[in-house]
Amino acid sequence: MAGRMAAAVEESYTELEARLARIADLSRIARVLSWDQQVIMPPGGAEPRAEQLATLGRTIHEEFTAEEVGRLLEELRSYGESLPYDSDEASLIRVAEQDYEKARRVPPELTAELARAASLGQQVWVQARAESDFAKFLPALERNVELKRQYIDCFEPAEEPYDILLDDYEHAMSTAHVRAVFDRLKEELVPIIQAVAEAPPVDESFLVGPFPIELQKEALLAILRPLGFDETQWRLDPTPHPFASYSGLTDIRITTRYLEDGLMALFAGIHEFGHGLYEHQSSPELDRTTISGGVSLGLHESQSRLWENLVGRSRPFWRRFYEPFQRAFPEVLGDVDVEAFYRAVNRIRPSLIRVEADQVTYNMHVILRFELEQDILAGNVELRDLPEAWNARMQEYLGIDVPDDAHGVLQDVHWSAGVVGYFPTYSLGNVMSVQIWEALRRDLPDLDDQIEAGEFAPLREWLRDRIHRHGRKFTPQETLERAIGSTIDPEPYLRYLKGKVAELYGV
Ligand code: ZN
Repeated sequence: MAGRMAAAVEESYTELEARLARIADLSRIARVLSWDQQVIMPPGGAEPRAEQLATLGRTIHEEFTAEEVGRLLEELRSYGESLPYDSDEASLIRVAEQDYEKARRVPPELTAELARAASLGQQVWVQARAESDFAKFLPALERNVELKRQYIDCFEPAEEPYDILLDDYEHAMSTAHVRAVFDRLKEELVPIIQAVAEAPPVDESFLVGPFPIELQKEALLAILRPLGFDETQWRLDPTPHPFASYSGLTDIRITTRYLEDGLMALFAGIHEFGHGLYEHQSSPELDRTTISGGVSLGLHESQSRLWENLVGRSRPFWRRFYEPFQRAFPEVLGDVDVEAFYRAVNRIRPSLIRVEADQVTYNMHVILRFELEQDILAGNVELRDLPEAWNARMQEYLGIDVPDDAHGVLQDVHWSAGVVGYFPTYSLGNVMSVQIWEALRRDLPDLDDQIEAGEFAPLREWLRDRIHRHGRKFTPQETLERAIGSTIDPEPYLRYLKGKVAELYGV
């Protein structure tokens, strides 16, 4: 009898695996099509590509929400629960069941309407931003928010409606928990930003270049290769908005944005490398399952920020890489020594645009959006009053006046695409990056020397073993706790930022 049960279970598990492998393949095909759209597709491809992606999206949804998948999961539940929690099989069954429950709750008509409103919203937003005309954007925003309310209503009531939106990006994290972390950041960072504003500025005059773009490409690759970028498994391309994508563990694609008057491409490239490495180092055992790859946006961002800021803006890093970098741009950097360069790339200065913000002020851009999103859902702010609410908070948190809506409430694409609950993950990533950094420094006491020697394998291996290989087996906070022994805590990050500010500004 037991033998027959085991055989039935084995058959169901093999069938579930096969179905999830098909879904994983289809999702990767969608990623390649989307990469192609953003990197090499001629503009004329936009319409057919939208149809192709919509068809794929529908197919993936139908395959995954099929009754048969529900039946298999039902049959496998007690088997999964009988296995160790951290086994690949138990995790696959458990996470697939969570994904399935969630996917089944949203009617296909609403999913289609959300996609349509997002696409229309983005088109309107591009124009509204170009003309700095919030009134033009308002109807699309109203539609997106209305649909988000309908989406929330598909689920069991949560402690706060925002929890349901946040869960899509940072599974199992509550709004109250995020608020507690952010209130602590705000309490410390607002006075720091004020103090820095009154201190003598750091010289950053040479960071406006010109840095010829062809030379930047070579310089970036010369840095990425020792970090782990290998041309047989990775690609680097230019795009207006940097991103990382992949079609498998051994096909990782990152992009960056080159501008002659700054070094954004360099740091964005290192940032996207961090995202790519997280996917690249997921366990081969989980390959072609739906639990391969990064577990959440927050943890993903912790990896990109770790490489961008904790590695890429550190002294040992520039002791390694500055000399060849300086030689590539002799006219701009010829008289700038490594210490001056280090200080400039770490400078802190309040600015209007989130994606250009420094390590300290960046978080206030995120907290501002997080607070406004909650006010919107709670009905505490009328959508038409958003520009004033935005501008008032920019003054309060960063001490700067917003000249127009293009540089204010209209600057980010997210709300135009109905993406609400996403912004907090950027700062959660910052916070977790320093917790992870502190833990790995304890295990790798020679890390600074290794970085200065251009040896990044120990760092990559630590990240792979502690975080990357687990894929989506655990919740984001479980993943963090297994890696470093504690869940999210803003104190290490605050210590790190205060250290930087004291070093650069003496405050
Ligand atoms: Zn990122």
